[in-house]
Amino acid sequence: MNKSDCIFCKIANKEIPADLFLETEEIVAFNDINPQAPVHILVVPKKHYENLNEADEKTLLKLLLVVKEVAAKAGITDGYRTIINTGKKAGQDVPHLHLHVLAGRLFNWPPG
Ligand code: 5GP
Ligand code: ZN
Repeated sequence: MNKSDCIFCKIANKEIPADLFLETEEIVAFNDINPQAPVHILVVPKKHYENLNEADEKTLLKLLLVVKEVAAKAGITDGYRTIINTGKKAGQDVPHLHLHVLAGRLFNWPPG
């Protein structure tokens, strides 16, 4: 997919709206349009990386730190799940790296 067609690039650039939860210089966090839990926030680098394998160390560290910040800001005290789908077979639909932060219900382990 071309970057200019990428939905998360467009959200990061404010070309299309999203329910923004938190923003840093390099990262946006916004509510998932189709939430799978009472809290379902996506943490997304503003720069386009197709998936986890493409991103550099510094970016990955910052993304995880923002996940913690999101969990704290959302007031999650009873646990949350962080998911990164890499590739279609793993359930990645949007080819722009993103971390799912889910909370507010019980999550099964192992996942389906
Ligand atoms: P994936 O399956 O790629 O790991 O996750 C993509 C996620 O992005 C899905 O949970 C889906 O609901 C969410 N999503 C897709 N398009 C949009 C959009 O335009 N806005 C928002 N807020 N979420 C989206
Ligand atoms: Zn993108």
